[in-house]
Amino acid sequence: MPRNMNDLLIVKDVVKQYGDYTALTNANISVPKGSIYGLLGPNGAGKTTLMRIINQITAPDSGEVIFDGEPLQKYHISEIGYMPEERGLYKKMKVLDLLMFFAEIKGKTGEAVKEKALEYLKKFSLLDRKNAKIEDLSKGNQQKVQFIATVLHDPEFIILDEPFAGIDPISVSDIQRITAYLKQNGLGILISDHNVRETLGTCD
Ligand code: ATP
Repeated sequence: MPRNMNDLLIVKDVVKQYGDYTALTNANISVPKGSIYGLLGPNGAGKTTLMRIINQITAPDSGEVIFDGEPLQKYHISEIGYMPEERGLYKKMKVLDLLMFFAEIKGKTGEAVKEKALEYLKKFSLLDRKNAKIEDLSKGNQQKVQFIATVLHDPEFIILDEPFAGIDPISVSDIQRITAYLKQNGLGILISDHNVRETLGTCD
């Protein structure tokens, strides 16, 4: 695989086994800065496993992951935003409080983050729900909040696991519009989804 100076993420010959079962056999991908890379594959193909490896939730048995020219390590966590397939929002929290909380975990606090959170809520037509409890939002709106939580701390790289699952066509185009904007700002983006049309329409 040719190495490109512009590659933000390189996954090289990654193997992952669970007991006797090989979930990933020499996985190779490279994601340049300012690009959207799509992972398409049937259930069980190993997509989530690969995303968990990039997030350092689990480690590969062999192979390497290079992030921004260096072997992937702990401090890269703050440069990566991850929207997992199983969404993890605190149901009793209010939308804006929750967004501020997630940004703080990733080391970002203060007025500038709050302004940014409000801007994103506006982009997703959710500004009037900023003081609503998560549990009072529809599933699709909760997903949009999860998306905002993924990008709010200004990561260089974002991973979106099934961002198009269960949301209406307007929300799909909101997410496509915002990922295109983030791409233009130089982010590397990895998307895994079963909606082939939406994924192909979004990815490079
Ligand atoms: P889906 O599209 O259904 O989300 P996927 O491509 O994300 O699938 P993975 O979740 O990465 O697939 O799983 C790949 C394979 O590894 C599957 O056969 C799964 O059963 C197995 N697997 C995943 N996690 C574990 C684990 N912790 N222990 C054992 N086997 C696992």
